[in-house]
Amino acid sequence: MTFDYDLFVIGGGSGGVRAARIASAEGGAKVALAEESRMGGTCVIRGCVPKKLMVFASEYPEMMADAQAYGWDVQAGPLDWPKFRGKLEAELDRLEAAYRNTLKNAGVTIFDHRAVVVDPHRVRLADGQEFSVKHILIATGGRPFVPEFPGSDLAITSNEIFHLQTLPKRALIVGGGYIASEFACILNGLGVEVKQYYRGAQILRGFDDEARGQVANQMAANGISIHCGTAIERLTKVAGGICAIATDGTEAEFDVVLYATGRNPNVAGLGLEALGVKIGRKGEIVVDEWSQTSVPSIYAVGDVTDRINLTPVAIREGHAFADTVFRGVPTKADHELVASAVFTQPELGSIGLSEEAARDAGPVEIYATSFRPMRSLFAGRQDKVLMKLVVCADTRRVLGCHIVGPNAGEMIQLAAIAVKMGATKEDFDRTVAVHPTMSEELVTMRKPVRTF
Ligand code: NDP
Repeated sequence: MTFDYDLFVIGGGSGGVRAARIASAEGGAKVALAEESRMGGTCVIRGCVPKKLMVFASEYPEMMADAQAYGWDVQAGPLDWPKFRGKLEAELDRLEAAYRNTLKNAGVTIFDHRAVVVDPHRVRLADGQEFSVKHILIATGGRPFVPEFPGSDLAITSNEIFHLQTLPKRALIVGGGYIASEFACILNGLGVEVKQYYRGAQILRGFDDEARGQVANQMAANGISIHCGTAIERLTKVAGGICAIATDGTEAEFDVVLYATGRNPNVAGLGLEALGVKIGRKGEIVVDEWSQTSVPSIYAVGDVTDRINLTPVAIREGHAFADTVFRGVPTKADHELVASAVFTQPELGSIGLSEEAARDAGPVEIYATSFRPMRSLFAGRQDKVLMKLVVCADTRRVLGCHIVGPNAGEMIQLAAIAVKMGATKEDFDRTVAVHPTMSEELVTMRKPVRTF
């Protein structure tokens, strides 16, 4: 039987674009991709990329203060938000065009429409066109989740934060994960008065306790008012903005309330359940290690499968799928020891087991040092850096590495290579330090601070 396409990808984000390109350019497949919104997906259009540019923008006031401390005669004026936003939008346009060109150059046909699955070998576009397809890849990502409560419609999400007409004076951020903590720092750096409400005991649940404690302390020292054990009962519109009534009875007014309380997989209305595609408890598409769903011709990669919701992981999953199905190279995406960085101020870079998780797994040695780095110390700041290794007492392997401080994201990428290779504490030790750096502490910690 012949099909209109060998592969039809639904979703033009990181995972979908990679899979389409490899299947077409390297696998020789006839490929089409449908995207209902902008090409590039969450990461490029409303996630990692604009977020990181906002992180950069938000760091300048502190840099200016440091410059003054170093003797420079400089003064930061107010941020011209419309100017920054205009440049940001132009950059996203550029990137979107680059994604489009990449696909075109790879021979992929692009449809700027929503697509749904009609049967295991048929898709339909919003304009009514239908195609027969040999394989379907669902790469539709996720969307922000806001819980239902009175006034929840007054809250915005990370989708809207990049489009604000004016920068708010007072912002409430709800949540304690990556997005909430990053935006608390960004807005604080941009001069907004920020409160962060988190329902649990400490933000950044899941990361190493010592590391997240250090991030939270520094965020508070930087001026963010973090309220743990606090949830919102209702939001009401008032003359001056939005009034947030918390479960502890306190009331406070804000110009913007940003909910960053997790993301849900984008599966609604795709027609999958009717075909027997298994959907998990959180609404995610259930796939095997080859990213294949319970319907053999339908695969899924990225956030819609809710495995590890990070762009580089979606890219690997998309690539592995294309290698397996179209290049004759069976490849499983590797979900072991994936490093990540939270772009808070200070940054948190992390790979492997936290101290708490490792302690449950067996005898461990903890190597950690916390110190004030010379750059900010000279400028009169009290910021502290944390370098931490979690080591298996039996095998001597470094099971986890956690870094808090400037450029922790850059540092953890390099440490991750060693950890992924299975480096032991002794491998770290016989590596000569690069001096004077912050990361040299990773190879100079001689004695464990704790053993379990
Ligand atoms: P996270 O899962 O990281 O955090 C969600 C937060 O919201 C948690 O603190 C959670 O609390 C809280 N929460 C969940 N439900 C409710 C509720 N009903 N009421 C109040 N609070 C609630 O999600 P994010 O939205 O921050 O980010 C989504 C994903 O995107 C991340 O998991 C990550 O994979 C990815 N991401 C990665 C980034 C990076 O690599 N730098 C940056 C941004 C996003 P609790 O802890 O109690 O569950």
